[in-house]
Amino acid sequence: ATPMSIMTATGRGAQAGVLIKDAEALERFAKVDTLIVDKTGTLTEGRPTLTDVVVAEGFREDELLGLAASLERGSEHPLAEAIVEGGEKRGASIVDATDFEAVTGKGVQGKVSGRSVALGNVAMMGDLGVATEAMKPHADELRSDGKTAMFVAVDGKLAGMVAVADPIKATTAAAIRALHESGLRIIMATGDNERTAMAVASRLGIDEMRADMLPESKKALIDELHAKGASVAMAGDGVNDAPALAAADVGIAMGTGADVAVESAGITLVKGDLNGIVRARTLAKATIRNIK
Ligand code: ADP
Ligand code: MG
Repeated sequence: ATPMSIMTATGRGAQAGVLIKDAEALERFAKVDTLIVDKTGTLTEGRPTLTDVVVAEGFREDELLGLAASLERGSEHPLAEAIVEGGEKRGASIVDATDFEAVTGKGVQGKVSGRSVALGNVAMMGDLGVATEAMKPHADELRSDGKTAMFVAVDGKLAGMVAVADPIKATTAAAIRALHESGLRIIMATGDNERTAMAVASRLGIDEMRADMLPESKKALIDELHAKGASVAMAGDGVNDAPALAAADVGIAMGTGADVAVESAGITLVKGDLNGIVRARTLAKATIRNIK
């Protein structure tokens, strides 16, 4: 590419839905050597669909799905939408939940038809003192298929699991290749468990992955990379990602993301697509020789 002025670069970027905050963000992005991407909604569609309902003894599938979907109506998480949609499609009875509470990076809980229902990952169940060992082999099997398995507890006991799969975006593989070619090491960071994360990372040739991450651990990962001398860009889509976006050398807010994510970002992609990052990188590299 030929050298470009910052004005030209930001103008071209804007036309392509790549909004660059200022010259510094562009310059820093040209020099970045490591890119951290969130899995859900960034590498994948972010629109998972319900695939499996697993029940413990004493529970029926439609009953468990009804409890899960009723509870998840209170959550805006993509996983929640998949469970509600799946429940509706499968004709489960969905009612109003009360005492709803979302636990960031872990799951949801509340009361449905007078029963205490909790839904989420191992950490969520651990917090509630619900043992999940009995279903671990089945959960691992689902995860090896790249599915996200979530445990359901009813009245303090493990009642089953629901699993969803979130397909990799059609554009992701080519974008990852282009980013590699531009000299970036790519790290996938996700709140999802190790097996599910590995299924996605290995399919895409991701260099490194960190699973079971809480929002604050994404920021800690950036600090860790900084300590090793890396220059880091971080792409994220959620409120959860705002602290990490702010800590990165360049924060990249992905399209559909929350306003607070956009505020912490040096680059905002109107369409939540990795191709926007490829474009921003090309623009940044073409500009940097002029800045020097
Ligand atoms: P990611 O980093 O992949 O976007 P999150 O931090 O949003 O993941 O969530 C981490 C994990 O917490 C999920 O994989 C899921 O197991 C659990 N979780 C979070 N929100 C919900 C929810 N509304 N319903 C069920 N499980 C949830
Ligand atoms: Mg997320």
